[in-house]
Amino acid sequence: MRTITGIGVSAGRVLGPSLRMPPPVPEPAADARFGADQTVDGEKARLKDAAEDVRDDLRHRAETASGDAKAVLNATAMMATDPMLLKAAGKHINAGMTPERAVWEAGMEVAAMLQSLGGYMAERTQDVLDVRARIVAQLDGLPPPGIPGSDVPFILTAEELAPADTATLDPAKVIGLVTSGGGPQSHTAILARSLGLPAVVGAVESDSIPDGAELFIDGAAGTVVVEPGTAEREAAQKYAARVSLPPFSGKGTTSDGYAVPLLANVGSGKDARAAAVAGAEGIGLLRTEFCFLGRDSEPGVEEQVQAYGSVFEAFPGRKVVIRTLDAGADKPLPFLTDTTEPNPALGVRGYRTDRTSPGVLARQLEAIAIAAGAHEADVWVMAPMIATADEAADFAVMCTGAGLAIPGVMIEVPAAAVMAQAILSRVRFASLGTNDLTQYTMAADRQLGSLASLNDPWQPAVLRLIKNTVDGARAAEAAAGSDSVESPKNVGVCGESAADPALAVVLAGLGVNTLSMTPRALASVGAVLASVSIAEAKDLASLALAAASAAEARTAVRSRLPLLEELGL
Ligand code: PEP
Ligand code: MG
Repeated sequence: MRTITGIGVSAGRVLGPSLRMPPPVPEPAADARFGADQTVDGEKARLKDAAEDVRDDLRHRAETASGDAKAVLNATAMMATDPMLLKAAGKHINAGMTPERAVWEAGMEVAAMLQSLGGYMAERTQDVLDVRARIVAQLDGLPPPGIPGSDVPFILTAEELAPADTATLDPAKVIGLVTSGGGPQSHTAILARSLGLPAVVGAVESDSIPDGAELFIDGAAGTVVVEPGTAEREAAQKYAARVSLPPFSGKGTTSDGYAVPLLANVGSGKDARAAAVAGAEGIGLLRTEFCFLGRDSEPGVEEQVQAYGSVFEAFPGRKVVIRTLDAGADKPLPFLTDTTEPNPALGVRGYRTDRTSPGVLARQLEAIAIAAGAHEADVWVMAPMIATADEAADFAVMCTGAGLAIPGVMIEVPAAAVMAQAILSRVRFASLGTNDLTQYTMAADRQLGSLASLNDPWQPAVLRLIKNTVDGARAAEAAAGSDSVESPKNVGVCGESAADPALAVVLAGLGVNTLSMTPRALASVGAVLASVSIAEAKDLASLALAAASAAEARTAVRSRLPLLEELGL
């Protein structure tokens, strides 16, 4: 028995065999030519066999998969033997290229062609790029890339997951996640919480866990036990039989009826429909860049109108906060960002891309206004990565010019939290992006597992910046006058911290007006919030603010919320 420690990012205790995510397939050399002892026909046959093997393997996996993963695996299976792909590769083989390089080039050509067609066809681009990597792996005898297939449920171990891996992660098969990299705000953490999967990130020693080893993970404590004993087995059984949470009532309040609306974070119309079913009171963050990840050209206005409209449609008469493109750093969009920047998290990201690619933001606001006009949702618009009051003012002018009445900003740069009053006197609302606010306050990359203890939204420095933002909003309201149309100044939180039920109570106690989270967290946050009065929440907030460390703040608050243990949270 061996215990590996990491950072618990999604609560739950499960037991299962480990299975490792293989490394990405390396690009075959551009000048790879087949030898004189091989023939064109022989190489084409090798390619065809590999493509058929990939197709059959994906079909087999699709048969036992569920939900989105099933659909994606089936679509990719069809693509594997697509005549257009194989014909294009065949031409390169005729010119002497190895099948590996030939299919790599052909995949690129087909992807570019699909991209140029736009709409549904453009969405298939990722499938082509995925399938070409699978064919190359098959030709070279390498393990297929992406989430591994298995007939039995398993705990996935990896260095880190990419947003694209989400599509093939089947929660019926993957019952827990362990990564050696990644912090509490990494993609793995966000994905795990949205799927409700117990997860530990930043478990540096987990790279040495062999496939098939039995693992126990505790996603609240942040521990991974290899070859667990009786105590862990019992803990997993107890967790499986825990008190189940009642579904979210559809109204976030404290025990004495103080309202803290609970909203959802989404990336598509489909997510929004699921959020409505889960009882979200509105959308607190629509990450528009998620609608266009993997695109290398700017989506047209009409395409954007459709994408945003599908979210607005799910919340008639309800608040929907849409965020303009937050491209850059870990979410590059080739048509907006320069991936060769030496320090992308501190580079041209979010609102700053308006400096380097003028016009894209204006067209996006135009599309948002058209979509808002066609639906009943109460649409609020915010810009990411705002650092100064001038930027906030310029963004507000752009919004009103586009006919969007409620402009706001993300507060995720410490400078913006410090200058909250000046910023909030120029816009109608703020939403605290605690994922970035934490990484920038602590100067700790949110993707880095090794710095995960710094990258913790419980850090009192982060909590103090949140308080400063709320105080700034109240001061801006007072300056505007309570009867002004500019009041009130809503301050929400849409970072992952809002999905931590204990921290959500602290945020409410700090005076945050709304909390936005993955729909999965609505029930647990709603239940824990309803277990305290607003006065108790304020006391817990004071306790957390006064702590000297993140660990001290967390422990002090959690010990006063007994419901957490009962619910296994
Ligand atoms: C944040 O930074 O907290 C946030 C919500 O934005 P994102 O995670 O998309 O950067
Ligand atoms: Mg952010």
